[in-house]
Amino acid sequence: MKITGIEHVGIAQVDIESKSDFWQTILGIADKSSEVIAEQGVKTDIYDTGKGKIELLEALDDNSPIARYINKKGRGIHHICLAVEDIDVALSELKEAGIELIDHDPRVGAEGLLIAFIHPRSTGGILVELAQKP
Ligand code: ZN
Repeated sequence: MKITGIEHVGIAQVDIESKSDFWQTILGIADKSSEVIAEQGVKTDIYDTGKGKIELLEALDDNSPIARYINKKGRGIHHICLAVEDIDVALSELKEAGIELIDHDPRVGAEGLLIAFIHPRSTGGILVELAQKP
């Protein structure tokens, strides 16, 4: 598989709109997009530095994986997303290597990216997301 860079860092947060001032005004990352991804139970604000993005994640309800994460570990870095050239190739190579996957097939995430998560049990404790541009 070919990893082409860090796509974004996902941060579990509460009330992401109120955090906008820090990222947009103080740090000056003007390129912002917001999205609700109902099937994943999250709302995202994405700040694009031009060389990697910051993805703020807010739970839509108490069943959201983000709500469960914050209840267990508190706010903070939730996952790291690596950009891959071909996500199907990446997933089949990972399966062959015995890596535990959360998503066996890619699904559509924020910004229309094809995404899949790798279980932290196989990565040394970090939730890793793979993403391919559609
Ligand atoms: Zn992500």
